[in-house]
Amino acid sequence: MKIFFSAGHNNVGDNGAIVNEFKESEIVMSIRDKVKDILKDAIFVPDNLSLRETIDFINAQSLPDDLCIEIHLNSNGDKEVRGTEAYYISDPKLALHFSKIIAEYCDFINLGAKDIQKKEESLGFDNRGARPDSQTHVGSLGFLRQTHCQSVLIELCYLSNFLDRSYIISENGQNKVAEAIVKGIKLLWSQKDETNGETKEKEIENLKQQISLLQKVLELLKSLRDLLSGTKIGRILSGIFKIK
Ligand SMILES: [Zn+2]
Repeated sequence: MKIFFSAGHNNVGDNGAIVNEFKESEIVMSIRDKVKDILKDAIFVPDNLSLRETIDFINAQSLPDDLCIEIHLNSNGDKEVRGTEAYYISDPKLALHFSKIIAEYCDFINLGAKDIQKKEESLGFDNRGARPDSQTHVGSLGFLRQTHCQSVLIELCYLSNFLDRSYIISENGQNKVAEAIVKGIKLLWSQKDETNGETKEKEIENLKQQISLLQKVLELLKSLRDLLSGTKIGRILSGIFKIK
């Protein structure tokens, strides 16, 4: 399974959400670079591509079983809203896999924060779970709808929320998010290997059954030849199958 990885925005006229001086594009590209440093086996979408070009780039090289991932930061007028969510069109399990692993891995304790007062701060990102792209304010997401392989779009957290923002703008926080994403991808790879292993075991079992069936047929033919030895059919059987 090939992985295609895309930072949802670039600095070429597409900054995404901007809160105070913080740009979504700069943060997701920085996290993408960290993912790139630790995950050598993925294909990273170049920054200068538009959404259409990104989709074409992925479709030109992918098979239906491959996976493309795009990362974003969310923003909301309600500054209390926070957490990780992942969007899907057909596979909520895949989306939930990523929102869960990121939310669980990225907490403030893990970040090394020592002066945690409130319990909620220790939790880091909330897991807002898997959501269909029809729930977005635009109603559907081209990255999910138009790519031909499996797809997931992750809104890592809310740039509009103070706690989420504090986490995601910090160097350590970005490292943790990148590590969580790579963990999620590696887990998928290992599950895929296990499934492949199971398929191979089943194929071997089927072959064994076919061989045993053939051996039985051969035994039957031998008995038939012995039974009919001396007759014309017996001689024909010995000749055709050359059974000894
Ligand atoms: Zn975005």
